[in-house]
Amino acid sequence: MKPFGYVAAKDSEHAVALLAEYGQGAKVLAGGTDLLADMKFTPHPPPEVVVDISRAADLKGIALTDAGLRIGALTTHSEIVHSAVVHQVAPALADAAVVIGAVQTRNLGTIGGNLMTCVPSMDSGPTLLAFEALVTIAGPSGRRTIPLSDLFVAPRKTSLAVGELLVEVIVPKANLYKPTAFQKFGLRKGQALALVNAAASFWTSEGLFSEPRIALGAVAPTVIRAPKAEAYLSGRPVSEEAMAEAGRIAATEAKPITDFRASADYRRDLVAVLVKRALAGAWDRATPNQKELAS
Ligand SMILES: Cc1cc2nc3c(=O)[nH]c(=O)nc-3n(C[C@H](O)[C@H](O)[C@H](O)COP(=O)(O)OP(=O)(O)OC[C@H]3O[C@@H](n4cnc5c(N)ncnc54)[C@H](O)[C@@H]3O)c2cc1C
Repeated sequence: MKPFGYVAAKDSEHAVALLAEYGQGAKVLAGGTDLLADMKFTPHPPPEVVVDISRAADLKGIALTDAGLRIGALTTHSEIVHSAVVHQVAPALADAAVVIGAVQTRNLGTIGGNLMTCVPSMDSGPTLLAFEALVTIAGPSGRRTIPLSDLFVAPRKTSLAVGELLVEVIVPKANLYKPTAFQKFGLRKGQALALVNAAASFWTSEGLFSEPRIALGAVAPTVIRAPKAEAYLSGRPVSEEAMAEAGRIAATEAKPITDFRASADYRRDLVAVLVKRALAGAWDRATPNQKELAS
C-alpha cells in the first residue's frame, strides 16, 4: 500500500472540521472494509489523508427518537443484526445486515460505509429504500436531512459534496412496524455479492395493498425503486397473483447488465422471483391485526 496521511476525529464535529481542513485530498475511514481494500488493490493514488471516524461516539448507536429509528452511520452490520429494537420495529434491516460478507466483515463494516460505497449491489440499500429512509448529512454549513434515494447518484458516486459526512440513517416513525422483507440471491449462500437483491413493504387497508414500496439492487447503476410495480399493487386486493405480477412488472423496470457473474436476462428473471418472495415475506410478517384489516 502506498503511504498516506492519517488523522483521527473525536466526534462528528471534529470530523467535519478535519474534512474542511484537508478538502479534496481527504477520505473518510469508517470500518475500512471497502476503503482499505480499494487503497491497496486499485492503481489510482491513495487519498492525501484518511480521516478516521471510528472513535466518534456520536456517530454510533441505534435508538428510537421522535423522528423514528435512528441508526448512527458508524453502526456495524453486526450491531444491527443483534439489535433488539431493530428486531422489534424494522426486522427486515437485520435480514439485510446478516447476509453482508462474513462475521468479520459485519463486525467492522458500517451501515454508513455500505451506503457511501454506492455500489448497486449494496445489501443495506433496498430495505432502507422500502422503508423510505432518510439520511442526515453534516458539512461546513450545518446539517441537512434528505431522502436516502437522493443520496444515490451513480455507481460509487453519492450526492455528498467534498467535506460532507454521513451522520445517521432514519427510518421515519410512520414506517416503523411496516411489514417489510428483504431477499438476496448470490452465487453462494455466504460471502457473495448479490446478483440481485430486493426489498418490499406494504400496509394493508380493507384488504387492499396500501403504500407498497419495492426496491431493487444490482440491476441498475444504483439501488432503485420500482414505481410501476408499486403503482400496479396500490389499491389492489392482496393476493399471490398480484405479488407475482408485481414481480414481473418490476423485472421490466430493471436495467441489469451482463457480466461474468450472470446475464442480464437471468438477473431480470431473478427480479421477478425475488420481488414476489419479498412481497410474500412482508405479508408473512404482517401481524394478525394487520392481516385482519386486509381480510
Ligand atoms: C470480504 C468482503 C465481503 C463483503 N461482502 C459484502 C456483502 O455481502 N454485501 C455488501 O453490501 N457489502 C459487502 N462488502 C462491502 C463492505 O464491507 C460494506 O460495504 C461495508 O458496509 C462498508 O463499510 P465500512 O465501514 O467498512 O466502510 P469504509 O471501507 O470505511 O468506507 C467505505 C466508503 O464510504 C466512505 N464513508 C464511510 N463512512 C462514511 C461516512 N460516515 N460519511 C461519509 N463517507 C463515509 C469512505 O470514505 C469510503 O469511500 C464486503 C466487503 C468485503 C471486504
